[in-house]
Amino acid sequence: MSMRKNECDECIGRREVVLAGVTAPIWVPQAARSLAAQIAPSEPTPTESKPTVITVVYENNPGREDLMAQWGFACVIQGPEKTILFDTGGAGWVLLANMRTLNLDPKQIDAVVLSHIHSDHAGGLPSFSTQRTDIPVYMPVGFPAEFKSHTRSLGFELVEAEESKTICPGVLTTGTLGRGAIEEHGLCVNTAEGWVLITGCAHPGVTNLAARVKEITGGPIHLAMGGYHMPQEPKETIVAVMDRFEELGVIRSAPCHCSGEGARRRFKHRFKERCDLIGIGHVFTFGKA
Ligand SMILES: [Zn+2]
Ligand SMILES: [Zn+2]
Repeated sequence: MSMRKNECDECIGRREVVLAGVTAPIWVPQAARSLAAQIAPSEPTPTESKPTVITVVYENNPGREDLMAQWGFACVIQGPEKTILFDTGGAGWVLLANMRTLNLDPKQIDAVVLSHIHSDHAGGLPSFSTQRTDIPVYMPVGFPAEFKSHTRSLGFELVEAEESKTICPGVLTTGTLGRGAIEEHGLCVNTAEGWVLITGCAHPGVTNLAARVKEITGGPIHLAMGGYHMPQEPKETIVAVMDRFEELGVIRSAPCHCSGEGARRRFKHRFKERCDLIGIGHVFTFGKA
């Protein structure tokens, strides 16, 4: 085994992730496994008449002035049978303060999904646990043992999602991508307007995550929102990602967090009103109340 440079210096600026005193090295085995893992077929049920509301509660891009914009990502999904917190940002107090300002009660959260190990996505979990425990935390496989035992010790039920897991009707994880590198999963939410893919940093590639959503759900994908992780990619790479979005039938995009200003600008230029450059506090509502 050898270690190579962490691909997410952009996110954490160091090789280690620290969560409430637990220091967990990011282990990067040399032999990365193919992304073409076998997927158990899933039969999601569309969410019913209630609208689906997705609120960005932690984000570095500016938005509402009464909220704190800080490096990281988290959002809350309301409307499906379960209310879900996707990622927790980096600083728990910022997460909780923003949720309070947005009138989102942590005690109403039924499940947490951690997209990947980086501290700007998983770091808020200990603070969140002061408000809410005894709920499942879905994480991709590959998290360090210390992190997992710490999560259990906080009072959560840990669910490792190697394959796609259904959290409730119409909401499921993509299953783990990026095995042997930075393991990550996204969240698929079935809304009145179609499937929404939510990503944390999309280290395994946002198009690979979108392709997985299509494979699991049959698509089309109404919206792909979250970090696309293209902070310094050349124009050609960004164009290739946008071309692949078109091929996959991704209708709308909302790149934020670690997507990179260049990528955000190019997405907006190409997709115009089909691209939302979202920031902290942004709310997507799908379906009528
Ligand atoms: Zn990140
Ligand atoms: Zn990351």
